[in-house]
Amino acid sequence: MGLVTDKLKPLADALGIDPQTLRDRYRTERDRRLRPEGLGQFVRIDRDHHHRFEHDPALAGAPSRAPLTDQVEIAIIGAGFGGLLLGAELRKAGIDGLRFIDRAGDFGGVWYWNRYPGAACDTEAPIYLPLLEELGVLPKRKYATGPEIHAHCRLIAEKFDLYRDTCFHTDVTDISWDEASGLWTISTDHGDAMRARFVVVSAGVMDRPKLADLPGLETFRGHSFHTSRWDYSYTGGTSAGGLTGLSDKVVGIIGTGATAVQCVPHLGAGAKQLYVFQRTPSSIDRRDDRELDPADFANLGAGWQQQRMENFTALVGGALLEEDLVADGWTSIPRNMMRLMDQARAFGIEIANPYEVAPLADMVKMAEIRARVDAVVTDPATAAALKPWYDRFCKRPCFHDDYLPTFNRPNVTLVDTHGEGVERVTAGGVIANGREYPLDCLIYSTGYDASSPFAKRISFGIEGRGGLTLQDKWAEGARTFHGYGTHDFPNLFIMAHVQTGLSLNFPHMIGEQARHIAHILNAARAQGAQRIEVTQAAEDAWVAEIDKAAVSMVEALRECTPSYFNHEGNVSRLNARNSAYGGGPLAFYKIIADWRAKGSLTGLELT
Ligand code: NDP
Repeated sequence: MGLVTDKLKPLADALGIDPQTLRDRYRTERDRRLRPEGLGQFVRIDRDHHHRFEHDPALAGAPSRAPLTDQVEIAIIGAGFGGLLLGAELRKAGIDGLRFIDRAGDFGGVWYWNRYPGAACDTEAPIYLPLLEELGVLPKRKYATGPEIHAHCRLIAEKFDLYRDTCFHTDVTDISWDEASGLWTISTDHGDAMRARFVVVSAGVMDRPKLADLPGLETFRGHSFHTSRWDYSYTGGTSAGGLTGLSDKVVGIIGTGATAVQCVPHLGAGAKQLYVFQRTPSSIDRRDDRELDPADFANLGAGWQQQRMENFTALVGGALLEEDLVADGWTSIPRNMMRLMDQARAFGIEIANPYEVAPLADMVKMAEIRARVDAVVTDPATAAALKPWYDRFCKRPCFHDDYLPTFNRPNVTLVDTHGEGVERVTAGGVIANGREYPLDCLIYSTGYDASSPFAKRISFGIEGRGGLTLQDKWAEGARTFHGYGTHDFPNLFIMAHVQTGLSLNFPHMIGEQARHIAHILNAARAQGAQRIEVTQAAEDAWVAEIDKAAVSMVEALRECTPSYFNHEGNVSRLNARNSAYGGGPLAFYKIIADWRAKGSLTGLELT
């Protein structure tokens, strides 16, 4: 976010905003949170680290099956939205021989794992639930709950017959390319050595839960778990709440991000005593959930969902469109900008570029968010601690109507750590602000490893031609053509947010990628090609494009308080290369659509 220009000062004064004072405060709050160890302050949960936290509570017993050494045409690693949407596209194209592999026990990805009480999505359901038209269903409410989204995932899998060949509860450990046979070998924790002509890695962004790497973490004698592995056998209740098992328990939760915002109200209602350990408050806007009227969708023409997705993605990217099909808290950004432009004109201020008002619009919005805290939270000290001081998109904005009121409950205490965080875990509880808080149960709402470079973040090695590993190839930052392919790794497709068009509405992004990859696989099939590889020249050209567009993003994030958005404050050109295409998602989707329309498959070598 840029700075408020001097000419807007009279308008800022009239709105009660002092941009310089606010910016100074934002920077002070950011500096207080910057840590030299950056991402090193966390430890991710995986086979080698705190493995017990990874246990799947939905799994009754360890599933066993004989190791597989057979061959399939396309192995899809990851059965979340990426795998599902690609599977649907491939089935539509009549492509068979698909196998889905996932460590989860079903389709669903994050929606398989995130069963915590209150789990829901605050991107509206008509654009978040993909393939509504194909499935002939409509969501009942504006925002879908976790169980509803998971059910939708299952519906997609059933409709497109994707359950036919699945390897669930299966953790891929390595994949390696064999040049002679032109096949990939996929090794797993089941001892599998499956072979596949094509491999698609759609491992998700939020698939690796992480913990704050606190001293004493393993010494805690109470019950503890990560929010992505919610233990209802201990808490009682369901995703809808009713955590009766906590009625005689003192519970602590570390973290106040989007996940905590949704489960804290249920913890507050269920626990004897709840301590919420906060390092940085989230911005909490109103949710405004409501029933949808089917009549509003009755007469829309074919393709309405895609159109609605594009309209949303354009608006949240700051496009000043008249038409706002979603009309929610996300799409209010351009509305707020337009309102400010009108106000500026009333002050005789000429605005040539609408984005000039964006920094002031952000400050106005954040002032509203802080005023909302004062209006809801009765204790002034608690209210003060719950106020966020940063540009709104430095952290994931949250929308919730019950989170702030939870702090008015007598059994709920906000432990604000003033940016320091919890210091350590003891056998009996945690230490924060130099004081020990005894706990029966400690819940880590500390998020996911979404910041590590892709090749490191996925939990298995990828070995391409000549033993080259993806991690080595991408040591100086990712290198792709349009985000999905990389030279020396034939027949490998990646579905991630790296060097691609990142929409805030993930299913939109994933749907575009799925269509693109399915197009390429279909074209290869039509030509009888057994091997597809990105050329070095195409890769180099795309990386140059990524570097060019990355500069402004890097600068914007530098001002931000640390989060996984800016690699915990470790902003560098290298990290930008590991991120999305800086020209914006819709521009990217047009680039790949134009590429498809050309039909020449430029940049690919098919043999
Ligand atoms: P986040 O990474 O957003 O939050 C982690 C939290 O842990 C932060 O509040 C962080 O504080 C805190 N933390 C880390 N270390 C410490 C410490 N030592 N002491 C105290 N606090 C600490 O993870 P979430 O699971 O909340 O959300 C991840 C993402 O998942 C979201 O950004 C969103 O994209 C998605 N999501 C979407 C939802 C929706 O649609 N509504 C719901 C839930 C998740 P600090 O901020 O200071 O780093």
